[in-house]
Amino acid sequence: MLPIIAISLSSLTAPPPPPAHLQAEAIGKVENARIRASVEKLAGFGTRHTLSDTTSATRGIGAARNWLKAELESYAGSPARLTAAFEEFEAPKSTRLPDGARVVNVLATIPGKQKESADRRYYITAHYDSRNTDPMDAAGDAPGANDNASGSAVALECARVLSMLELDSTVVILLTAAEEQGLIGAHYHAAQAAARKDNILGVLNNDIVGDPTDPNVQGGQFFTVRVFSEGLPRNPSAAQIAGIRATSSESDSPSRQLARFVEFVGAQHENNLAQVGLVFRQDRFLRGGDHIAFNDNGFPAVRFSVFREHYDRQHVNVTTRDSLPYGDVPRYTDAAFMGRVARLNIATIINLANAPRPPANARIVNSELGNDTLLRWSPAPEPDVIGYEVVYRPTIDSTWNPEMVKDVGAATEVRLKINKDDHFFGIRAYDRHGYRSPVSFTGTAKE
Ligand SMILES: [Zn+2]
Repeated sequence: MLPIIAISLSSLTAPPPPPAHLQAEAIGKVENARIRASVEKLAGFGTRHTLSDTTSATRGIGAARNWLKAELESYAGSPARLTAAFEEFEAPKSTRLPDGARVVNVLATIPGKQKESADRRYYITAHYDSRNTDPMDAAGDAPGANDNASGSAVALECARVLSMLELDSTVVILLTAAEEQGLIGAHYHAAQAAARKDNILGVLNNDIVGDPTDPNVQGGQFFTVRVFSEGLPRNPSAAQIAGIRATSSESDSPSRQLARFVEFVGAQHENNLAQVGLVFRQDRFLRGGDHIAFNDNGFPAVRFSVFREHYDRQHVNVTTRDSLPYGDVPRYTDAAFMGRVARLNIATIINLANAPRPPANARIVNSELGNDTLLRWSPAPEPDVIGYEVVYRPTIDSTWNPEMVKDVGAATEVRLKINKDDHFFGIRAYDRHGYRSPVSFTGTAKE
């Protein structure tokens, strides 16, 4: 049997708190008025249907993507801290692309500054295309203000603010097309990234984040953004399913740890961030969005979306009510709320990008029966890591409990007098600045 390092938990100095000051400064740079102006600008292209005009300078998806790329380029600075590009491909024929189509995503990359972390990529995504009542109507107006100029405008503002920071890991802002045709732009990007073996460790998909009101409550308004996350992977292997069953980890996928991490970060800030409402589904009931394309390619990804939707204003033709345009138009989006959503994205990305990656090979060593729990994990590769925390929760709890955290210092092994039958365990790494990684859920090993 291997010797077990006995450590006295009470003798350790506490790890540093998360660095709130730097984050507060960054999120303070968000300008609600810029987000509002971007929504107006995008809606002003009339339609951003994927099959709409690509040659006009003022109308259609071509004008919209040219503007998005130019806007991203305007944040680059000198020397350039950000690069913007189109990602173009020929999509094959499909139900909503009967002749196929040239689909163009817009992306911006902010390279990571720490050698050991620059391979890690964190995404903010939004689809910029739109539709009206008829998903095939490429000519009629489809302003798509809430769905999804709101997410695109939030992503733009995040790009502007994040490009001003020195972040350890690489950040990508991805604006996709043909989402309304079946997540086609996102699927292409995610499949290419998977083929390249890109190390994408977190995707925040912003889709319908503009309207905080409740259609059932007069004057009802929320500060909450729902955060959706998948539980089970798509097409798992028999071995994967066996592993999930053995450890009862059906609610502890990497995407769900990412969702809990968003809540963990949000709780460190008061007042001016959107509040996190975790929903343990991949998306709204039987519906979808671009994060699913990343999930399908094996990447942790979550969706941000408003607390309630107005189905009479979404995916519909613009009409007139009380002499005013009615439909998915900018007047039903709220700049202050979108600002909150942008700040939640930025705070989350700062923490993801500057924190260590989740510890690899986190496991419960299960060589003998006992009421103690022996945990091991691999040391983190980042040079600024100074310690690890074990988090745990009763199996019937849905999220990690801030009271159930054990600091173990620089050890990569610990035996706890907490029963593994009744609890789930996870490991996270922290660095000398106080940034904590998302949680690695523990698997199991006999060793
Ligand atoms: Zn959408």
